[in-house]
Amino acid sequence: MEDNVLALAGGVGGAKLVLGLARILPPEALVIAVNTGDDECFHGLHVSPDLDTVMYTLAGLANPETGWGLSGDTFIALSMLERYNVSTWFRLGDRDLATHIRRTQMLRQGCTLSQVTAELCHCLGVAQMVVPMSDDSVRTVVGTEAGELPMQQYFVQHHSEPKVVSIRYEGAATAQPAPGLLEGLARASTLVFCPSNPFLSLGPILAIPGVRERLQRFQGFRVAVSPIVGGMALRGPAAKIMAELGYEASSIAVARQYVGLCDTFWIDHQDAHLAPAIAQLGMKPMVGPIVMTSEADKVALARRILGLEDE
Ligand code: GDP
Ligand code: CA
Repeated sequence: MEDNVLALAGGVGGAKLVLGLARILPPEALVIAVNTGDDECFHGLHVSPDLDTVMYTLAGLANPETGWGLSGDTFIALSMLERYNVSTWFRLGDRDLATHIRRTQMLRQGCTLSQVTAELCHCLGVAQMVVPMSDDSVRTVVGTEAGELPMQQYFVQHHSEPKVVSIRYEGAATAQPAPGLLEGLARASTLVFCPSNPFLSLGPILAIPGVRERLQRFQGFRVAVSPIVGGMALRGPAAKIMAELGYEASSIAVARQYVGLCDTFWIDHQDAHLAPAIAQLGMKPMVGPIVMTSEADKVALARRILGLEDE
C-alpha cells in the first residue's frame, strides 16, 4: 500500500524536510499542514511567512540564503515606501509582494486561506497539497520582559532579543482546523513532525481545538525530527526561547512536547547519549544525521524517517 504522509511544518526547518519528502513521494501522497501563527498584515497585505517558505521551497523559488522570500528578488517597492516614511523593518521583495497582493485580493473576495493557498500553489506549479493549519486567524503572541509582542515584531524587528516569559496563541481556542489538515490526517498512514520550532511553529498547530486529540488517536506511524542538535537550534531562537521558558535546550525537551502524539523521535549523532531519556518518554529514539544542508541530505533524511532503504 502506498504511504500517505501528513507533515506538520513551520518555515525553514519544516520546508527542508518537506522538500526531501516531496522528492520521494508522489505529489498526491503528501499533505503539508503549515503554521499560520506568524501571519501578519503589512502595508494592508496579508503575509503568511511559513506558508510562503514551504510554497516557494516546493516551487524551487525560495531564497536559500535568507530562508524567506524569493531567490533573486529586488526591493524597489520597499525603498519607495521608505521615501513615504513607511517603516520597512519587515523585508518584502517586489515579486514576493505580488504573492501578498494576490492573497489579500482573494481573501477580500471571500476565499478562505486554504483556497488562496491552493490557487497560489497551483499557479507556481506546486503539486503537493499545502494547507494552512486553520482558515481562522491564530496569532502567536510572545510575552517578553519588554511586554507582549506579536511574533514578527519579536522575531524580525527585535531580532528575538527580548527575554521570553510566555507564549500564547491568540484566537486558537475558537479556531477550527483547516479542512485540508483533517483530510490529510484521515488519508495519512504516516504523520511527520518536521524539525520546526516546537513552541513557535508546531505549538500553534497543536493548540487548535481537536488537533491534539486527533493526533493522539492517529493509528498510523508517527515520527518527529528534532530541531535541536547538540543543545543548539540550527537556526533561529528555538534554544534561546526554550531556556528562557525554563526548559532545557535539548532534544529531550522537544520530545517531551510530543509525548502521546509521536512514537519515533530522530536525534542527531551528536545527541546519541540522549536516546535512553527519549526512550523513557515512551518514544523510540532513532539516531542519525539530521542536519540538512544539501538537497541530498534532505532526501536521505526523508527516506530514513519513512523507513525506506537508503544504502
Ligand atoms: P521558522 O518558521 O522559519 O522558524 O521555521 P521552523 O520552525 O520550521 O524551523 C526552525 C527550526 O528548524 C530551528 O529550530 C532549527 O534548529 C531547525 N532546523 C533548521 N535547519 C535544520 C536542519 O537542517 N535539521 C534539523 N534537524 N533542524 C533544522
Ligand atoms: Ca515561522
